[in-house]
Amino acid sequence: MIREQLSEVRQNIHDACIRGGRRPEEVTLIAVSKTKPEEMIQEAIACGQYVFGENKVQELCRKQACLPETCQWHMIGHLQRNKVRELLGKTVLIHSVDSRRLAEKIEEEAALQQLSVPILLEINVAQEESKFGISCEEAEDLVREISQMPHLKLKGFMTIAPNVEDPEQNRPIFRKLHDLFIDMQRKNIDNVDMQILSMGMTNDYVVAVEEGATMVRVGTGIFGERNYGLKSE
Ligand SMILES: *Cc1c(COP(=O)(O)O)cnc(C)c1O
Repeated sequence: MIREQLSEVRQNIHDACIRGGRRPEEVTLIAVSKTKPEEMIQEAIACGQYVFGENKVQELCRKQACLPETCQWHMIGHLQRNKVRELLGKTVLIHSVDSRRLAEKIEEEAALQQLSVPILLEINVAQEESKFGISCEEAEDLVREISQMPHLKLKGFMTIAPNVEDPEQNRPIFRKLHDLFIDMQRKNIDNVDMQILSMGMTNDYVVAVEEGATMVRVGTGIFGERNYGLKSE
């Protein structure tokens, strides 16, 4: 089942790229494996999927330790400052830098561990109370501050769009973030290399790709529904 779902998602991404006049290689599919067991991840690996997203530090570290080293792990969930030390060095990209304080904490730990840490800024485009992230208006100031932090490598933006019935409803959200992304690219800020736009989940990744996403994060569409009720986490 994972095989079929994966190939369907890949095909949809491919088609959306072609429709939008983009090269399919521009878009990276992150298989969001949170709450899912290692066996299911192994199944995805057998289908050539090596890029995974997790939203909890402990779970990410546990899975990484028992799965092939060729896997790449993305941290996509809200990150508490007291978990930063444990996470650094384990992940190819932290998508969820959602505050100045968190950026400062990562800088501090990265300096101690002598690491250069690729990050995305999480933007709450729709200004939803229930979500983390900074507003579009605050983004440039924070981009400029992060550009002064020598151990952080800012690579772009991430957003979690609202949970809507019709994915078309999120098109303006994705378009707005893409505009901000291009705007920031043009400013050519030192030590900032805007190249990644992480947006789109199971419900809306096709629209996100049409609007310029370079990374999509798909969980349910690959691994099936998550059952939180059975977990103690
Ligand atoms: C869980 C999660 C996803 C995947 O959601 P699906 O709807 O299952 O595709 C993507 N991004 C983030 C930040 C998540 O927490």
